[in-house]
Amino acid sequence: MRVLRTRDELQAALAETPRPIGLVPTMGWLHDGHRSLMQRSRADNATTIASIFVNPRQFIEAADYQRYPRNETRDLAICEEEGLDFVFAPGVEEIYPPGFDTTVAVGAVARPLEGAARPGHFDGVATVVAILFDLVGAEHAYFGQKDAQQVMVIRQMARDLAIGTEVVTCPTVREPDGLALSSRNVHLSPSERAAAPVLQRALLAARDRWAAGERSGDALRATMGDVLAAEPLATPAYVSVADGRTLAELDRVPDDGPVLLSLAVRFGSTRLIDNELLG
Ligand code: AMP
Repeated sequence: MRVLRTRDELQAALAETPRPIGLVPTMGWLHDGHRSLMQRSRADNATTIASIFVNPRQFIEAADYQRYPRNETRDLAICEEEGLDFVFAPGVEEIYPPGFDTTVAVGAVARPLEGAARPGHFDGVATVVAILFDLVGAEHAYFGQKDAQQVMVIRQMARDLAIGTEVVTCPTVREPDGLALSSRNVHLSPSERAAAPVLQRALLAARDRWAAGERSGDALRATMGDVLAAEPLATPAYVSVADGRTLAELDRVPDDGPVLLSLAVRFGSTRLIDNELLG
């Protein structure tokens, strides 16, 4: 496995590598969710490259960026274990050199939910992923369903900018108690960690009501809200029942089309998200 630090090193290395190439973009502090993306890429491609870059432009609060967990030595050992060919781990100035002055802003699908709660977040995501897609020129790139809106934003961006990389979504990997793996889980206190599976419990309660025939968006949102309200350490930011293609909030849930149940919840200063796709 080779660790590449600069755009030039990256492009020189990839010029000679067997194709197809699979790209796994990450912000490091790797866990089994990231491993599952790497494994999928290894199965699909002749070459797999992960990127490790804590992207300052997608953080809304400087303090959140500063405290994002980092451990490159451990991350590289995980990439090696997963049999990756390359890791691209650039410094901030390599991605955003002095004078950098472009933002990629995706439209409607980036506006609600995480886009409303964290203005500018998806501009930062779309900008860095556009750079990575362009530099790597991969046939496939792998993302987690855990960040469902992020995948939709990236797919829209790649389509609109005519980038030939196919965006592949991989299932959410969870702890045995249902908590979705996330680099941010490390910030939870023991009591917050014990409470955090309430996110998936709320989603599954709404899914059960939907399976039993409930089609009112408000009723399904209330179901999620009630489950969260029973957990004193959880402060909900939003609960959503939205069209799985446009993310528009639904009054009535259709019987056929995809529906995305999603939520964001704070535990102290740690904010967690999760979702469940219906239909
Ligand atoms: P991050 O390092 O948090 O930016 O995540 C990098 C990629 O891993 C993104 O595509 C995430 O959606 C994905 N990912 C994060 N957590 C999980 C998880 N629990 N299961 C599957 N994929 C995940």
